[in-house]
Amino acid sequence: MTNGFLECLKKEIHNYTSISSLVYTPINPSYQSVLDFSIRNKRFISDSTPKPLMIITPEYDYQIAPIIYFAKHNQLQIRTRSGGHDFEGRSYVSEVPFVIIDLLNFSEITVDAEQKTAWLGAGATIGMLYYNIKVKSPRLAFPGGFFPTVGVGGHFSGGGWGVLLRKYGLAADHVIDARIVDVNGRILDRNSMGEDLFWAIRGGGGASFGVILAWKVRLVEVPETVTVFTIYRDLDQNATQLVHRWQYVAPNCDEDLFLRIVSRRNISGDGRMTIRAAFNSVFLGGIDRLLAVMEEKFPELGLVRDDCIEMSWIQSILYNVGLPIDSLEPLLDRFQHDVGYYKGKSDYVRNRFP
Ligand SMILES: Cc1cc2nc3c(=O)[nH]c(=O)nc-3n(C[C@H](O)[C@H](O)[C@H](O)COP(=O)(O)OP(=O)(O)OC[C@H]3O[C@@H](n4cnc5c(N)ncnc54)[C@H](O)[C@@H]3O)c2cc1C
Repeated sequence: MTNGFLECLKKEIHNYTSISSLVYTPINPSYQSVLDFSIRNKRFISDSTPKPLMIITPEYDYQIAPIIYFAKHNQLQIRTRSGGHDFEGRSYVSEVPFVIIDLLNFSEITVDAEQKTAWLGAGATIGMLYYNIKVKSPRLAFPGGFFPTVGVGGHFSGGGWGVLLRKYGLAADHVIDARIVDVNGRILDRNSMGEDLFWAIRGGGGASFGVILAWKVRLVEVPETVTVFTIYRDLDQNATQLVHRWQYVAPNCDEDLFLRIVSRRNISGDGRMTIRAAFNSVFLGGIDRLLAVMEEKFPELGLVRDDCIEMSWIQSILYNVGLPIDSLEPLLDRFQHDVGYYKGKSDYVRNRFP
């Protein structure tokens, strides 16, 4: 089947030699490394994980329609991969015969600081987007997620939230145009796809509707200085009461204040197992105003000046993922160095925990 598929592709793509170097079948020595490159969960790096018949890494829009025609003709499923962060590996695993279209070559980003917009290839990462915005303006930002290696292809088409959530909403709320290849191989933009499809790909998951090639987004304004803090509280430091109280404060306070909790198991000083809650915040403003807001809304946490650090918004991205804040270059690195085994699941809490 693989040979037949390649023959079909040769006929359909006029300049096949230009793409043959971008097609990886299991006999290609680079097949495994190309497959693994964007796998972010070791659960899906095993001999028992179903493997694609081929991985295609197109470079141009026109190379995608022929892949769609012939996958359909040969009853192969297409898995589209941008950053590879799908929690269940859906961009590179399937129970039926399949091929992967990997968009990692679609990572061009053009920022127009004057218009406060950017066009970005679906294979770009949010780290690349943040970096490119910063190069153009320290006062502009984008309300996307935390982890720099997350791909914008999956992230924007599923929603996408991060530290600017409270003030600006989701990444998908700021998508103002898109280019997509539909199931019939047509390349559509917002105008030609119509508002229904444009609505659906901003939250409904892109792969349900086609292959997204690029997004146009509206950028948002941030102050030159933001303030971050992370305060840890164990169970014997009132963590339970603070977490409970936080549920009333966090959704209702000043919208410049993003305040989340990450709670984990922890071994206390005397060797006992406990739970540690990390209250982690990015505030769109300086320390003085943050202290005033916290004193009014959440004095129980006991935030003091020494807990707070002022920095730029882009540095807060690095801070939140534990990277040194003095170099922005790691934001451009799309290789995730610490891939582990995990199960991830998210939900939106509608009722407060008693
Ligand atoms: C370590 C980690 C950190 C995360 N942090 C955050 C966070 O801070 N905030 C947040 O909101 N979410 C976060 N997520 C969730 C993440 O936003 C989603 O998993 C998102 O779908 C990943 O997009 P991707 O392009 O990297 O993934 P992929 O695995 O490439 O794709 C995810 C899904 O989208 C489809 N898809 C991808 N590209 C395209 C395309 N071009 N056209 C059509 N369909 C496409 C895939 O087929 C798949 O179904 C995180 C996930 C991980 C693993």
